[in-house]
Amino acid sequence: MPFLTQLADVARRTGHPVTEVSGWRGRGHGPQPEVQGIVCHHTAGPAGGGDYPSLAVVRDGRPDLEGPLSHFGLGRSGHIYVIAAGRCWHNAPSTSAFHDNSSSIGIEAENDGSQPWPAEQLDAYRKLCAELCREFGLPASRVKAHREVNTSKPDPHSIDMTDFRAAVAALVGDTPAPGGPGPGGSWTEDIVKQLPLVRLGDDNFDVKTVRGCLFARGHVPPAAYAQVADGLEGWLTSTLCDDQLVELVRGFQQAEGLEADGEVGPLTWPPLLRI
Ligand SMILES: [Zn+2]
Repeated sequence: MPFLTQLADVARRTGHPVTEVSGWRGRGHGPQPEVQGIVCHHTAGPAGGGDYPSLAVVRDGRPDLEGPLSHFGLGRSGHIYVIAAGRCWHNAPSTSAFHDNSSSIGIEAENDGSQPWPAEQLDAYRKLCAELCREFGLPASRVKAHREVNTSKPDPHSIDMTDFRAAVAALVGDTPAPGGPGPGGSWTEDIVKQLPLVRLGDDNFDVKTVRGCLFARGHVPPAAYAQVADGLEGWLTSTLCDDQLVELVRGFQQAEGLEADGEVGPLTWPPLLRI
């Protein structure tokens, strides 16, 4: 994989303002070998100092670590700074092979490590991750906090990554976004009637859809996949409707005021798909 000179265009698709930092197309510790994941950081920069006071550090590095440190900077206003197109030193050592420096894109969001996140900045954060997932064909599950792939790091602080990834998934269209299955899509009652019944013992791709939707709606606690090989990814890709999934469906139905029969049929699909 060469230098990622499409990154500015990808960032512009978020609708947030983009600054191409001079020289970004050729900046990097060599080209980017591959993109298998995205790592979210906070800069731990100064509390004040405008929109993105950490720009020079992320671009040029620190005394102990040469820049660039990350592909993107994200200002407090949601302004996106495209800093590098090649490999960056943003996550080493990594506990995930998909998120080391050679395999992942880094985003350094301006925050001193404790101040609240402005809504515009969070919106840009989610949308940038979603556009990167689209560009590189990644599931939202590949978006990780630095603290999730490097046990000595705390960043980005206070962002619930389960919620964050669910929002990214909805933006990407992994699961249908509120209002329909995606741009131009239109769901009707007839389509709902054609949706399959999913119940205990079924083993097919519709079960995966149920799993993805339950996760996106916040009805899959981490304990559900703690014992599964490959964790959440393994859980989400299972095509088997087992007892555990039926219980989670019941929980969702109760929360929606539906009869908790544990079967996904014409009354359960619409709130699950948000159609
Ligand atoms: Zn970090």
